[in-house]
Amino acid sequence: MLSSQTSLAADATSTGADLYYRNQLDQGTFLIQRCASCERSIFYPRMICPHCGSDQLKWFAPTGRGTVYSTTVVRRKPEQGGDYNVALIDLEEGVRMMSRVEGVAPTDVTIGMPVQAQVADSDEGKLVVFNPTKA
Ligand SMILES: [Zn+2]
Repeated sequence: MLSSQTSLAADATSTGADLYYRNQLDQGTFLIQRCASCERSIFYPRMICPHCGSDQLKWFAPTGRGTVYSTTVVRRKPEQGGDYNVALIDLEEGVRMMSRVEGVAPTDVTIGMPVQAQVADSDEGKLVVFNPTKA
């Protein structure tokens, strides 16, 4: 019994980190975490550091500066909104996140392109997207 209670508690707390992230995002604030023990940055939000196992995780606002690690064009009919970009972005804090690059044609997004994070509205609520940075 004890072990099943323990795992339930762990599930509840990991949902807590996700919920906090979403609530902040809904207010227009993009936050990631940093481990106070090993000082590495963490994304996606969680309760336990994936690098060292510490639970001393602190929220902070990243600079939002990143570079495109990989990019894909997802084909979609024009009446469904047209093609869009899906990209993996490396933030300068050292975390990688799935997002999309806006402000340029989906096919013009290139690997290594410098980008800047921005909180945008979508059908599913606020989300973090990226725009190309002027060199
Ligand atoms: Zn750590």
